[in-house]
Amino acid sequence: MAAGYPPKVPELYIISRNHTSKNALENANIMMNHYYQQASFVQSATTPNTLPQEGGIEVAFAGRSNSGKSSTINRVCFQKSLARTSKTPGRTQLINFFTLPEGQLLVDLPGYGYAKVPENIKLQWQKFIEAYLTTRNTLKGLILVMDIRHPMTSFDQGLLKWAEHRQLAVHILLNKADKLSKGAMHSTVLAVRKELANYQMPVSAQAFSATNGLGLEELWAKLDNWYERGAAI
Ligand code: GDP
Repeated sequence: MAAGYPPKVPELYIISRNHTSKNALENANIMMNHYYQQASFVQSATTPNTLPQEGGIEVAFAGRSNSGKSSTINRVCFQKSLARTSKTPGRTQLINFFTLPEGQLLVDLPGYGYAKVPENIKLQWQKFIEAYLTTRNTLKGLILVMDIRHPMTSFDQGLLKWAEHRQLAVHILLNKADKLSKGAMHSTVLAVRKELANYQMPVSAQAFSATNGLGLEELWAKLDNWYERGAAI
């Protein structure tokens, strides 16, 4: 076989760079990552009994309804509709499992906090999420998506308490950063990090925008670390 064949597929592609926008936050590169682009849906679970067997490392995405969790998953994987963006928040809630190469799993947890959902159904989802978070041995970390304009809601804090109880690592995405000025974005990140000092587990936070890809490389680096991908990129 000729040297250099088959050609090595580069992990990162820069698809476009927006030079025209006056807003610095919109100048983030739009990129894809070959590893995460291979994500593919495997199955949904509706109850703790229907969770798939444990296998590779799992990273779960959680967030309040409308925080942009689905848009974030789609951005990470560079797929338009891998996770369904919520036209009707509060519809049937499932835990969705996606496979990645080498048997790793990316998990989409049901969005929480949607006001119109009856209290008993909310409790049911909460129990399901908690059952998943507390029993899943292969779960390595939780990506918690928040709207940067309304960070650390009581729902988010409840989830952080669960993660602390279980000693589960959490990485917070302060999403929709494109909606804030650079100054407001930085001060929110600092304020959230200050609040996180009260939690006794590995927890970090960054600004993010599912819309323009701001913070995407930092997020991929965190995911690579949890998936034990070494110096893959
Ligand atoms: P989910 O309910 O948490 O899964 O949220 P979705 O991904 O469905 O997003 C909710 C709404 O927020 C949609 O209208 C998205 O287009 C919008 N959205 C998501 N992420 C961003 C972002 O980074 N910036 C802006 N401006 N809007 C976003």
